[in-house]
Amino acid sequence: MAEGVVIDGRAVAQGVRERVRAEVAEIEAEHGVTPGLATVLVGEDPASATYVRMKRKASAEVGIASHDHEPPASVSREELAALVAELNEDESVHGILVQLPLPAHLDDAELTALIDPAKDVDGLHPVNAGLLAHGRFDEALVPCTPRGVIELLRFSGAELRGARAVVLGRSMLVGKPLAQLLLAEDATVTQAHSKTRDLAGVLAEADVLVAAAGVPRLVGAEMVKDGATVIDVGTNRTDDGLVGDVDFDAVRPKVRAITPVPGGVGPMTIAMLLQNTVEAARRQLAARRAAATTS
Ligand code: NAP
Repeated sequence: MAEGVVIDGRAVAQGVRERVRAEVAEIEAEHGVTPGLATVLVGEDPASATYVRMKRKASAEVGIASHDHEPPASVSREELAALVAELNEDESVHGILVQLPLPAHLDDAELTALIDPAKDVDGLHPVNAGLLAHGRFDEALVPCTPRGVIELLRFSGAELRGARAVVLGRSMLVGKPLAQLLLAEDATVTQAHSKTRDLAGVLAEADVLVAAAGVPRLVGAEMVKDGATVIDVGTNRTDDGLVGDVDFDAVRPKVRAITPVPGGVGPMTIAMLLQNTVEAARRQLAARRAAATTS
């Protein structure tokens, strides 16, 4: 069998960014408003600072207005809550992203739940998680990485309907929303995690395997079915550089298609953040217009 196709996440992400750039122009023409994304970076964690910088740069490149906030690591819960409340009220801000993890004295989930669900472009608010579980995709904001994974699967031509899909990982950020999205695509979904018995046997049943465990090269060739499509969400910093959860060199010869790390899921996460921001802007502007015509 030929080696698996390498799915080029950078190229797919570029296509999404171009689509978003056109949508930004459309929104400006129709409403005279530039979609705005507020990013809140608390403290100076270097990895968080890098992610936020990439998100601001990507926003600017597609014409989204970036509203940058950088409270110090010592910010109190009340001060941060007040900033979120101010951004919730600000009509020029359509998306709010509070970069996680927050410093230890702040509660990630509690602060995330203060964001207006309509502006929650990370899709982490319980209201958005609930809308996703209810299949109300037109109202939900869906977390960026799982959305990006679905786009990559579609691009790769993987058959999802009736397929056996295994998601390795059950976090609120990746594993759980991804399982919901795969179910909505009519896949038969298994969610594996650290307590799963016979992990290798479970993974080896997958026609579509998505690895999001955060363990370098956990998934070896013996755990992957011949001809499977494999999406590697893992981004693990090791002495060998950035590596995924899948042993790429060992697995690639067996599979139909596979994403590399880096250059697979990572670029899609940022592209989908931009997509979520324009969708949030469209919905808010439509709601304001509807409210204005009825009052
Ligand atoms: P997380 O919250 O740590 O969740 C990891 C999940 O994997 C948990 O459900 C855990 O099981 C499971 N797991 C861990 N070790 C395992 C093992 N040895 N065997 C089976 N299951 C195991 O991580 P996350 O936020 O979902 O992120 C997962 C990975 O994706 C990380 O490498 C992260 O850096 C990466 N990531 C990448 C992007 C991107 O844009 N490329 C975005 C987000 C995350 P339990 O629930 O039982 O503990």
